[in-house]
Amino acid sequence: MKLAVIGHPVSQSLSPLMQKHWLKQHGLNHTYDLCDVSGDALSSFLETIRQEDWLGFNVTIPHKESILPFLDRLAPQARRIGAVNTVLKKDGQLIGYNTDGLGFLKPLLERYEAVFHRPVLLIGAGGAARAILAALLTTHTPLVMVYNRTAEKAAGLVQSLGSGRATILRQDDVQDAVAAAGLIINATSCGMAGYDPLDIDLASASGDVVVYDIVYKPLNTPLLAQANSRGLQIIDGLDMLIHQGAQAFKIWTGRDADTVGVKDMLCSAIGEGCEVEP
Ligand code: NAP
Repeated sequence: MKLAVIGHPVSQSLSPLMQKHWLKQHGLNHTYDLCDVSGDALSSFLETIRQEDWLGFNVTIPHKESILPFLDRLAPQARRIGAVNTVLKKDGQLIGYNTDGLGFLKPLLERYEAVFHRPVLLIGAGGAARAILAALLTTHTPLVMVYNRTAEKAAGLVQSLGSGRATILRQDDVQDAVAAAGLIINATSCGMAGYDPLDIDLASASGDVVVYDIVYKPLNTPLLAQANSRGLQIIDGLDMLIHQGAQAFKIWTGRDADTVGVKDMLCSAIGEGCEVEP
């Protein structure tokens, strides 16, 4: 059966490498392709998927939200987030899931579970930040402080996910939040190749803080380099990418994807060492 990642552009996606690795490991004959689908072509492409022998697909920029009206059902987390990154075709129905939140949480749960007892500083209010906030609110985290360049978007995010445990920050309060947080997350595009670095000083951060940057191109972002130079604990963006992919694989096949060794494989593919690994 067919699997794919659909997006526009999509040629740089690391998903085929990961998913083909797991399909081979499990001896499954499904195919996994890159499908460049523009916004105008989305509806007809989904019709083709309904007609043909598809098992499912990943969804990436710019379709994560615009695909919603074309699906038959949404899993609760995808409904709450308002975005889909994985679709399962089952009994002729297209069912939308969002695995970004769980993909984000997994590395924390595996390595730094204690961070959920302290306040979190979440920087960003785009699609990824939305999935991350929804995921954090499923943990015991006492408070998530959200800062975004465009304040209205942070306010909208906090309001729509509706919880007394999330609050918005003004720019002047960010440095105090750095000092108070047990976990600092960059969920903006800052630090990505071609973007400015995130403007944040980790000098006041506590020694046991975890700094999590979801950007993975480059892997060693200026924020992680700063955290590394201060001896802080870090998580990079490939960890989230791998775990959201593993969760999608489970949805399609019912099987557990072995994530061991996958990071080295992806690092070689993007031509980077995994030296930011703690
Ligand atoms: P998005 O919806 O476009 O949101 C972009 C966010 O970045 C917004 O909060 C935006 O703030 C902020 N931003 C952009 N340029 C900025 C600047 N110069 N200064 C300050 N803030 C800036 O994008 P997204 O889908 O959330 O993705 C965000 C990043 O996460 C991307 O780098 C993406 O590759 C990465 N990502 C990684 C994974 C993973 O698995 N590791 C998964 C998803 C996304 P405004 O609201 O003010 O514009």
